[in-house]
Amino acid sequence: MPSKPLVLIVEDEPGIADTLQYALRTEGFEPRWCATGEAALAQAGDVALVILDVGLPDIGGFELFKRLRAARADLPVLFLTARGDEIDRVVGLELGADDYITKPFSPRELVARVRSVLRRSAGTAAIAEARAAVAAVSPLQCDEGRRQIRYYGRALDLSRYEYGLLKTLLSRPGFVFTRERLLDLVWGDANQSLDRTVDAHVKTLRAKLKVVAPEREPIRTHRGVGYALAEDLPASL
Ligand code: CA
Repeated sequence: MPSKPLVLIVEDEPGIADTLQYALRTEGFEPRWCATGEAALAQAGDVALVILDVGLPDIGGFELFKRLRAARADLPVLFLTARGDEIDRVVGLELGADDYITKPFSPRELVARVRSVLRRSAGTAAIAEARAAVAAVSPLQCDEGRRQIRYYGRALDLSRYEYGLLKTLLSRPGFVFTRERLLDLVWGDANQSLDRTVDAHVKTLRAKLKVVAPEREPIRTHRGVGYALAEDLPASL
């Protein structure tokens, strides 16, 4: 039997929270209630959706929303607002919330909104998953036409030689390129350059890669020999 979708209600008015919990439970959801933003942050890790009151005692609803999304970018959120004014609606949706509902609301309408948000987010998740499967080949993607290399989806801002260096390493992951070979392939004239030119460019390249993925080390140093691109880079961050 599939488990019931867990819905977190963040609402400081117990009466409203009770109504919500009852309506959700009746319709096959598993409600979880908390009355403060701090509690919500602690409990949102495994929920399918959050119903979020804009007016909370400790953290503003919009601020809480940002923090929840910072922790879980794909978390579906439905705002609950006591004020019907347009500002709340616009701000709520501009923030990237999935939907909102104005108090007073009918429990039936609320459950319908919860269902539709969950349906939409399931579709989005499926698309994201398909994209991730394509990207799983390598976190480094070279687009030679644009002379651009993407790393974990982010376009790197590379100088001419940094680009050439990374493209060369990327052409044969795991293969150890000597400094001489790199000078020849990237700079074109090994005689005109020094070994430390390669080292200096590897250093700046690594710094740029580190900005995107601080924990990863895609360029491996082989002491006394040269450099190679790691073959075991995780596909996603
Ligand atoms: Ca409130």
